[in-house]
Amino acid sequence: MISRLKGTDDILPPESARWRRLLRAFDDLAARYGYDLALMPVLESTELFARGVGAATEVVEKQMYTFIDQGGRSVTLRPEFTAGMVRAYLESGGAGFMKLSAAGPQFRYEQPQKGRRRQFYQVDLEYLGDPEARADIEIIEMSCRLLAELGVPGVTLHINSIGDAADRSVYRELLRDFLHGVAGELSLDSRRRIDDNPLRILDSKADAAVVAAAPVPLDHLGAEATAHFAAVRFGLDALGVTYEIAPRLVRGLDYYNRTVFELFSSAFAAAQSSLGGGGRYDPLGELIGSRRPIPAVGVALGCERIVAAMPETREPRLDLFVAMAGDARTAEAAAWVRRLRDAGLRVDWEGGGRSLKAQFKAADRSGARGVAIVGDEWDAGEVRVKDLATGEEAALDIEEVGEWLHR
Ligand code: AMP
Repeated sequence: MISRLKGTDDILPPESARWRRLLRAFDDLAARYGYDLALMPVLESTELFARGVGAATEVVEKQMYTFIDQGGRSVTLRPEFTAGMVRAYLESGGAGFMKLSAAGPQFRYEQPQKGRRRQFYQVDLEYLGDPEARADIEIIEMSCRLLAELGVPGVTLHINSIGDAADRSVYRELLRDFLHGVAGELSLDSRRRIDDNPLRILDSKADAAVVAAAPVPLDHLGAEATAHFAAVRFGLDALGVTYEIAPRLVRGLDYYNRTVFELFSSAFAAAQSSLGGGGRYDPLGELIGSRRPIPAVGVALGCERIVAAMPETREPRLDLFVAMAGDARTAEAAAWVRRLRDAGLRVDWEGGGRSLKAQFKAADRSGARGVAIVGDEWDAGEVRVKDLATGEEAALDIEEVGEWLHR
């Protein structure tokens, strides 16, 4: 017996019904806001992530599935969507606005546990080409709306601004000075990062007490980043999106500037409570070779965690299960089933060949709202129907079954 790899999952029914709900809600939301679908390669050149995400980030340093392919190139199973989306935007001409949505697997070599997998799924939105706060606002509002539409409980939104590159280089020096002063109290991991990625230490859980006194980016923003952050907050307020300002939120990757945000759910223990996050990443285009900045904002939300936080629904899986009393009318029943499906009803059947009792068992297992039995009444244009929730039975004109289901 060969089993699946550690940190990977087979997502099968009944669990996968919740995934379908998530993916449909996401796709519907994206369409309502004018985001087109992007289908992206799972495999990219390693350099894309080394340069885009940043060589000194935890993802690139420790977690990538990287190998040499048969042509001798270093390739990587994508650990995130954003760098690939910007690459695709640039390769497609890199002009104007492009609003993209994507869903699919990501790969990170992590210590697997619940909500932390080696192959995990994200839904992702990217708003490319727009430097204005409206892009940040839209991406944040959509993220909150998706979770609200799915009924995820206890969601909080944290936002922050980490400023522009020039603000950050001034701030980084201040932070480094502070960190060198408290180096003896920091974890080994953080001590090692003081010089190459000091911002990352700000959101280190292990060092929270020590960095509580550190200077924060918000106090060192330039005029433009300050105005941008004010515009983002104003826009969120106007839409009634509630948030907390989190001065130590920086997010792990190198490409962010200005707005960063993260969404949490009270449904989880702290370590896995992040449902997703994102921000503005104007520097990313140039990091991967664009000659001019590509202003953009994006978000990635973790599907495993959203699915785990979604409430159960009692929504039936099918509208109707069609059972055959004998095999005499199979061809006519097949045509009827086809018409019901044409009308948008979710219908299943076995096409006869088994006892009514066996078919009723299958109907119960199928999660259908009702069963229709094709028997002798068929010749008078009728079927017997049974509501599987209430047990109520009736003889109905076959043309009225749709209405009966929608009653
Ligand atoms: P990140 O790209 O690290 O900001 O991750 C965005 C979201 O993806 C997180 O908030 C999680 O919900 C989800 N996520 C990240 N890494 C994993 C993982 N290893 N397993 C499951 N979900 C993850």
